[in-house]
Amino acid sequence: MKKPSDYNKNVKIDLHIHSTASDGTLSPLEILNLAQSLNLGAISITDHDTIDGTKEALTIGIPPSLKFLTGVEISAYPPPSFSFPGSFHVLGYAINVDDSVLNQTLAILQEARKNRNPRIIELLNRMGIELSLSEIRKEIGECQLGRPHIAKQMIKKGFVQSISEAFDKYLAKGKPAYVDKYRVNCDRAIEVILDAGGIPVLAHPVLLKIKNDDVLEKLITSLKKMGLKGIEAYYPEHTPDLIARYTEIANRHGLLITGGTDFHGSNKPGINMGSGRGNFSVPYKLYEKLTTSLEIRD
Ligand code: AMP
Ligand code: ZN
Ligand code: FE
Ligand code: FE
Repeated sequence: MKKPSDYNKNVKIDLHIHSTASDGTLSPLEILNLAQSLNLGAISITDHDTIDGTKEALTIGIPPSLKFLTGVEISAYPPPSFSFPGSFHVLGYAINVDDSVLNQTLAILQEARKNRNPRIIELLNRMGIELSLSEIRKEIGECQLGRPHIAKQMIKKGFVQSISEAFDKYLAKGKPAYVDKYRVNCDRAIEVILDAGGIPVLAHPVLLKIKNDDVLEKLITSLKKMGLKGIEAYYPEHTPDLIARYTEIANRHGLLITGGTDFHGSNKPGINMGSGRGNFSVPYKLYEKLTTSLEIRD
């Protein structure tokens, strides 16, 4: 008889997807429909600092052919002794979406984002880039406004040609219209996810932009002590060598491996759900290992 893992050998998953609740362009319903039409085995909606998209998917109802993990991607500060230029994000999977501390923590992060956006607009205005939050809001409706939305409006008004140009010239860290946002400390992010019954995972390690192997090793050791349970080894920007390297690190530290495309719809051109830039895939067995770890813990 076939074991479930043999049966699911060719099934792909995508555990890193943004919806219109943050800065993706597809609604939770559209995400569920697309995942189904792509024959994905499992997905997770992991919006920046909000679980509204994940909650909406649960309310809509998950199609029987698809497995679904609740998710979130929290922007955090690295441990105090670490400093690196890239994005430090903690993914949380299989969280209880009704957990009150989780909801309160995310509400604080969303409030901070609201305070940050006018400051970005002001910096752009000062450089002669005339746009307003109200005109962006008219375009996007009630979702959580982030830098990709500002970038899109800059394209619309002819100030830049592409989202990447907007980031490279103005919006990325270190560029003239960059405004840092309030984050939670990583130990708190990990704790909040664990306390909500979830699995905390280090997102896209390549985007941390850590050059020194030794520093990455020390960071993982430190995060593991805080309760980290996994590393997102599969990511479109990870070469096969990097996937192997992060997998080896995860195995050595007794951490789970996850993966996803960081799909944002047209806010991240060229990245497709389930397949990244075309030849990327995340094996179904990673989803099985995640759920097995939840069962063991229960
Ligand atoms: P925010 O939530 O406003 O900090 O924006 C974060 C999002 O901006 C990320 O999830 C990406 O979608 C996008 N982003 C960040 N850096 C870049 C970049 N250099 N080029 C294009 N998009 C980026
Ligand atoms: Zn994003
Ligand atoms: Fe991220
Ligand atoms: Fe993301």
